[in-house]
Amino acid sequence: MSSQPLRPVPGPDDASEPFWEACARHVLLLQACGGCGTLRFPPRPMCPRCNSFEQAWVPASGRGRVWSWVIAHPPVLPAFADRAPYNVIVVELDEGVRMIGNLLETPNEEIAEGMPIEVAWEDVEDGVSLPQWRPTQ
Ligand SMILES: [Zn+2]
Repeated sequence: MSSQPLRPVPGPDDASEPFWEACARHVLLLQACGGCGTLRFPPRPMCPRCNSFEQAWVPASGRGRVWSWVIAHPPVLPAFADRAPYNVIVVELDEGVRMIGNLLETPNEEIAEGMPIEVAWEDVEDGVSLPQWRPTQ
């Protein structure tokens, strides 16, 4: 038995289950409206543009840029204490939607607006993988 505090993991709902199921296979999918084609993230049942409940799932490029970021300092949740200070970035994907994640393989002081980045999968437990980010290789 580990004494390491448990890290929170995603709790998929009906709308986001396809997204997380793909993440477990290291595939980044985006939800697209079946009516007007608008991409939406986070996944949700209804399109905010045309109110359609139709949807499709399309592969994302996995590439984007740093749009914004913060550095989290203690106090943080116990599960993250050994990581602090750590970055939390807003990624703007090439497709235009924004996601939150951590920028790996990068000292916090080297993070810059507009940095080109790509998805880097972090397997957190059996069947659960998080889309994280690293500088474009
Ligand atoms: Zn729509």
